[in-house]
Amino acid sequence: MITGGCLCGEIRYEADELPSRVTHCHCKHCRGSAGAAFITWAEFDSVTFRYTQGKPEAYESRPKVTREFCSQCGTQLTYNHADEPGVVNVTVCSFDDPAIAKPEDHIWCDRKIPWIKLDDGLPTYKLGKWDE
Ligand SMILES: [Zn+2]
Ligand SMILES: [Zn+2]
Repeated sequence: MITGGCLCGEIRYEADELPSRVTHCHCKHCRGSAGAAFITWAEFDSVTFRYTQGKPEAYESRPKVTREFCSQCGTQLTYNHADEPGVVNVTVCSFDDPAIAKPEDHIWCDRKIPWIKLDDGLPTYKLGKWDE
């Protein structure tokens, strides 16, 4: 069981299983939406993920992509793609214990900020599964 939530505590979630995939995304939209150098995402089968307290706001950051966040503190919680309705991507750093996730690779490295130096030995990919 994985538990997590936003910074202010208004929104809480849980997932029954470990994520099926964990990736660091360096795309411009992730960077811009978080105001951070990159976002680490955990992919879950959407039937294993549920909110247990509060309800996030959602906005369309580009066609087919919806990002959910806490309307009170602004923590970004999920990324959802319309072409993959059975999947929810959750921000690993909203987990209560982010160390439980095991990142597998870096995507959108073509967009990576040059002062981010990678030395974790993980595979790097120029692009990602979806357009930015
Ligand atoms: Zn919050
Ligand atoms: Zn991204």
